[in-house]
Amino acid sequence: LAARTPERQRTTVDVGGVRIGAEEIVVIAGPCSVENEEQILATAQHVRAAGAHMLRGGAYKPRTSPYAFRGLGEEGLQLLAKAREATDLPVVTEVMTPADVGLVAEYADMLQIGARNMQNFHLLEAVGRIQKPVLLKRGMSGTIQEWLLAAEYILNCGNPNVVLCERGIRTFEPSLRNTLDLGALAFAKELSHLPVIADPSHGVGRRSLVGPLALASLAAGADGLILEVHPHPERSVSDSQQTVDCAEFADIMLRADAVASAV
Ligand code: PEP
Ligand code: MN
Repeated sequence: LAARTPERQRTTVDVGGVRIGAEEIVVIAGPCSVENEEQILATAQHVRAAGAHMLRGGAYKPRTSPYAFRGLGEEGLQLLAKAREATDLPVVTEVMTPADVGLVAEYADMLQIGARNMQNFHLLEAVGRIQKPVLLKRGMSGTIQEWLLAAEYILNCGNPNVVLCERGIRTFEPSLRNTLDLGALAFAKELSHLPVIADPSHGVGRRSLVGPLALASLAAGADGLILEVHPHPERSVSDSQQTVDCAEFADIMLRADAVASAV
């Protein structure tokens, strides 16, 4: 179902009126985590002013350490809904367990399956049984084939609204958080009709490289980007080192438009 065929070259996924996989690239921006009302509203307004099409923000956070900030839960979802009301930006947020799918879907316009859950097959089936668009991140050690088969789980349950996201894989190279696999991004677009976007924030893990890799992703054929943005990145409670500020984001947007129209 995920495979690209002569009859099925490209699919577009509609997220609250924003079409991913169509002519125009789609930029999703926002903080790693929803922290409080002021933070999410300010970020939403800034990224919208800079031209973002959707808002991101985690309410349920998969953290390596159980002692790290793990998200505001339902309160975070409520704040995301408030930010959508204020800015009209559709919202994407992560869902970590089948039990939360109904609740998260009540608030969000798109559900994110995080890298750590790419092969959580019960979760894939749970988001497959509803019609909400799903952003399926590639697992940090997932092969391209495994990633597409994860998408197949969702499609096979009846939800056709799947967008793939390359977010970097773990390689032998320790100096960056991950290795953003642009070959996989381009190949996934060749193998599948589904839209594919890039997450250079998690893909490199380093603020200064987010812009260059965002542009490289678009040049490689990405249908869009998901970027971590915070008014004060140094104060961000999660992923602070890879988060850009609002001015940096606005600069990336200008250059992204130039690259996208050149490809
Ligand atoms: C995130 O988007 O903040 C996140 C946790 O992403 P990933 O699952 O790609 O690590
Ligand atoms: Mn993050």
